[in-house]
Amino acid sequence: MRVSVDPEVCYGSGECAHRVPSVFTAVDGLGAVIPGREETGGDPRVRDMAERCPSQAIRLH
Ligand code: SF4
Repeated sequence: MRVSVDPEVCYGSGECAHRVPSVFTAVDGLGAVIPGREETGGDPRVRDMAERCPSQAIRLH
């Protein structure tokens, strides 16, 4: 399962990069998936972060 961040929705709270730094980072003030880590959507920490994201910007697909 893949994970991505919708930059149109993210407002840059920074929570994803803080809580799951092995998968998420911040780019230009917005959350982003670290290149090469896109296939981690099945990781429970990533799924939990998708639920916690305050703007619902983290997509699992
Ligand atoms: S937790 Fe959500 S709103 Fe915050 S930086 Fe990450 S994707 Fe953006």
